[in-house]
Amino acid sequence: MYSPRIDRIHARLEAEGLDALLVTSLPNIRYLSGFSGSTGMLLVTPRGNRFISDFRYHEQYKQEVDQAYELLDNTGRELVKELLPVFIGEGFKRIAYESDHVSGTMGSKLAAMEGLTPTTGWVEELRMVKDAQELAAIEAAIRLNEEIFSEVSALASADITEADLAAEIEYRALKKGASGSSFRPIVASGPNSAKPHAGFSQQRLVPGTPLTFDMGMRLNGYCSDMTRTVFLGECTPQWRRVYDIVREAKDRAADAIKPGLTGKEVDAVARGYITEQGHGEHFGHGLGHGIGIEVHEGPRLAKVGLTELKLGHVVTNEPGIYLPGEGGIRIEDIFVVTEDGARNMNNLPTDVVVVG
Ligand code: ZN
Ligand code: ZN
Repeated sequence: MYSPRIDRIHARLEAEGLDALLVTSLPNIRYLSGFSGSTGMLLVTPRGNRFISDFRYHEQYKQEVDQAYELLDNTGRELVKELLPVFIGEGFKRIAYESDHVSGTMGSKLAAMEGLTPTTGWVEELRMVKDAQELAAIEAAIRLNEEIFSEVSALASADITEADLAAEIEYRALKKGASGSSFRPIVASGPNSAKPHAGFSQQRLVPGTPLTFDMGMRLNGYCSDMTRTVFLGECTPQWRRVYDIVREAKDRAADAIKPGLTGKEVDAVARGYITEQGHGEHFGHGLGHGIGIEVHEGPRLAKVGLTELKLGHVVTNEPGIYLPGEGGIRIEDIFVVTEDGARNMNNLPTDVVVVG
């Protein structure tokens, strides 16, 4: 599974006349080696890939890291003063590093070293295109998320708080085998649902208003992310109209997604429709984002989304309309780009649901 990924990095190094890539982003390390710990680095090079970490992670190295990597113990050894000079001494003349994934201080030290070359996005670009195993992992994280959403949304009532439901989500995530939520869940009722990133509060759920759940699971290293807005007690005709606009915007964007289109063009489909319906100013965020090892990764579906969609990209589609002081509606599913369109990876319908 890891060798085709490593081969691509080797090919890129060769194409750019570089000897090695020093990988410092943890999600990138996971993608290229399997390591899920919190401290480590990779030196990816056709001249012998290394996994660099201290004694705390040597057991984990044996359990998780692909055999393409030899362990290099850096216990008590500093990267710039001690390790890099060793590599340079071995004849690595040009070492690329991930300039987006080093601290400011480290970045300036590396920039000052002879032969060190800043790069951005090499691994992220590969990560956007999911292989079959990754799609299966995302699919499993989605199934678990849908299961927990169905259970927890059924508990909604005017007697409990947003935090009660958020706690149920977190508890069930761990009980059912996830390593946790892929982000802190949003459970937002009434006026709180007008805030796209409301989180949750100790406030009781408000009858007759939207109740937004935005939640995701991290399962076997891959994330899911789904939003459903349900209604507590009743869905008023006013909210029904807003709901139908959001759902139609999402469906139109879903029909538009296909290889070759940019994220910006897909965003414009949903945004154009919502604007036509008079709610342009109530949809203030991007339409979606890539998802995989990280809950937010490339490509973006947004006004700034210039990346062209490709077969195997996995993106969320999550339009919303937020009416300040009243409430908001958002619906979110995950789509995988296919040869001539996109497939919705979620199974849960988006019909209006009244709970409680
Ligand atoms: Zn979400
Ligand atoms: Zn999302």
